[in-house]
Amino acid sequence: MLTQEDLRITSLGPRKLLSPLRHLREGPRSFVPDDRRVMYHIEYCGDEIVNPLGFEKAGPREQLYFDPAECRAAIVTCGGLCPGLNNIIRNLYYKLHGDYGVPTILGIRNGYLGLNPELGREPFPLTDSVVEQIHHQGGTILGTSRGPQDARVMVDYLESLGVNLFFPIGGDGTQKGAHLIAQEIERRGLKIAVVGVPKTIDNDIKFCYRSFGYLSAVSEAETVIDRAHVEAKSTPRGVGLVKLMGREAGFIAAAATIASGEVNFTLIPEAPFSLDELLPAIGRRLDKRDHAVIVVAEGAGQDLIDHEQGRDKSGNRKLGDIGPFLKQAITDHFNEVGKPAAVKYFDPSYYIRSVQANAADSLLCEMFARCAAHAALAGKTDLFIGLWNNRPVHVPLRVSVGQVKRMEPARDLWSAVLATTGQEKW
Ligand code: ATP
Ligand code: MG
Repeated sequence: MLTQEDLRITSLGPRKLLSPLRHLREGPRSFVPDDRRVMYHIEYCGDEIVNPLGFEKAGPREQLYFDPAECRAAIVTCGGLCPGLNNIIRNLYYKLHGDYGVPTILGIRNGYLGLNPELGREPFPLTDSVVEQIHHQGGTILGTSRGPQDARVMVDYLESLGVNLFFPIGGDGTQKGAHLIAQEIERRGLKIAVVGVPKTIDNDIKFCYRSFGYLSAVSEAETVIDRAHVEAKSTPRGVGLVKLMGREAGFIAAAATIASGEVNFTLIPEAPFSLDELLPAIGRRLDKRDHAVIVVAEGAGQDLIDHEQGRDKSGNRKLGDIGPFLKQAITDHFNEVGKPAAVKYFDPSYYIRSVQANAADSLLCEMFARCAAHAALAGKTDLFIGLWNNRPVHVPLRVSVGQVKRMEPARDLWSAVLATTGQEKW
């Protein structure tokens, strides 16, 4: 059970400087007071809400903790690629440098690895000409990496660079690392704001209803499903099998299924299935319509695969490859029953995650980056910018790290998948 105290945001100290944005495009009325909250529960019955729980609302503060002219910012991108990383970098640069007048914004190379000076990857200063065109490219101009670095080494390095505004952009692992950095900074009594931007193409970060990259991924996935459908329809007993991202949660698979409207079976990590049920169900579909489209999230059906469990450099669970496993199982099953199926397998994961952000994600990136700059200059720290009830909010890292958001099979999205596919369950 969360309490209001859990959602309290840490501040580096009292704010005494008037924001320069007063005189710029954001007039005094657009400043957000610290006690403005976004309600945690948006739906309620009758009079049940007495003292509503709420996140601190993100946005520009009238008073700043830092004098922007004396600040040095650093941005780092970690983990897997996700559409929109370059948009975040570009918008952070424009907000910090252009609007607030922060003189130096450093790009840290290759994730947390770039914060270990022994590994020899010097940061580089961002400039107008560096960031001008980057939002038209996928990937991240800073590069990325997996694998841990010692928080003490990273804080030493941030200190030696004179950085006081630090922006880690990445998924759950990155935000865990950011929390350790913020704790180390606090232990040393340093004045460095740590404000994260959550990156999750799978949409599985808790307290962030939607993060950037997800809708771009869904729209690319929809295109691949449509191609798989064309392939499946053009062959007798054709099966189009598409593996999509979603290690712990099947949001991309579910949303792309609904968007495409061509999928007959959607398999996600949250809804276990057995081959004894799935294969005959595919058979019934093929007998009736002579083609089938199956979407499988990469984390689905892991209990069916005989593989050695392990962890990658960042400690993430290694998955067995469900795509080729299913392709083989379907092929073998229909050969055995004497009604062969032609399985066409699509694995578009790297293609999808490296596309540029679509318009919806570009808008979200602009908002996340803007709010991150406002929060850091106001001296707020150990938080990331979340999206809650369609409002930007400050989420303390201590409550979000280690939590994964999963689809709840009883809720609307999964019901819509079942209605769209007509599959009996899973
Ligand atoms: P993705 O969604 O692509 O997995 P991520 O941010 O979770 O993004 P990871 O590779 O898991 O990607 O982590 C990114 C960085 O954060 C890595 O450098 C990793 O070592 C570091 N990290 C991960 N977990 C921890 C942790 N528990 N403590 C400190 N650092 C961590
Ligand atoms: Mg991760």
